[in-house]
Amino acid sequence: MSFESLGLAPALLRALADQGYTQPTPIQAGAIPLVLEGHDLLAAAQTGTGKTAAFALPLLQYLSTAGATQTRRPRALVLTPTRELAAQVHDNLRDYGKHLRVSSTTIFGGVGMGPQMQALRRGVDVVIATPGRLIDHMQQRSVDLSGVEVLVLDEADRMLDMGFLPAIKRILQALPKQRQTLLFSATFAEPIKALAMQFMRSPREVSV
Ligand code: AMP
Repeated sequence: MSFESLGLAPALLRALADQGYTQPTPIQAGAIPLVLEGHDLLAAAQTGTGKTAAFALPLLQYLSTAGATQTRRPRALVLTPTRELAAQVHDNLRDYGKHLRVSSTTIFGGVGMGPQMQALRRGVDVVIATPGRLIDHMQQRSVDLSGVEVLVLDEADRMLDMGFLPAIKRILQALPKQRQTLLFSATFAEPIKALAMQFMRSPREVSV
C-alpha cells in the first residue's frame, strides 16, 4: 500500500516524503479514500495510529482543489478536547500542507481573545478549536461558521468525557447542514453513537 494509491495530490506526496513517511498506517489507508470521496466518516482510532494525517491529508487536498479560496470565512473546523491537541493538529496541517496554500489557526482558552480575533478577521481556511473558547468567539461574533464545509471531531470521546457535549451541540447548530463530518474516537460508547446518528449522514466506518 502506498500513499500514491490512495489518490493524494503530488504536493501532499512531496510533503509526506519530506516527513519521511513511506507508507500509510491502517487508519490512513482505510480513511483517506473514503474522505476524498466525500463520505461522512466514523473512525475508531487511538492516538499514535496516525489518525491526524488520516483526516488532515484529505482535508488539505479538498481545500486546495475545490471551490474558491477568496472567502475569509473558515471552510473547515476541527474540534479537539485540549489546546495541546489543537496545537499538534495545527503543526501537522502546516507540515503536510507546506507545498499548498491552505491557512489555519488555533482557537483555545487560557490565552487572550485579541490575537485570535485578528487571525479570524484576516481570514483563514481551517480553524482548529477547543469547544469552550469557540463558543466565546461565537458569542462575541468574532467567528462566522456559516461557510464550514468540513467538520472534524477529533478525540470525540474525550470531548464528551470533559463535558463538552452541550458546547458541541451548540456549535453543530451554527454549521451548515450541507457539510462533510468526520468523527474520530478511541471508543464508540452510546453518547458518541447518538451524536453520530443525529449529526452525520450515512457515515462510513473505519476501525483499527
Ligand atoms: P497521531 O496518531 O495522529 O497522533 O500520529 C502519531 C505519530 O505518527 C505522529 O508523530 C505522526 O507524525 C506519525 N505518523 C503519522 N502517519 C505516519 C506514517 N504514515 N508513517 C510514519 N509515521 C506517521
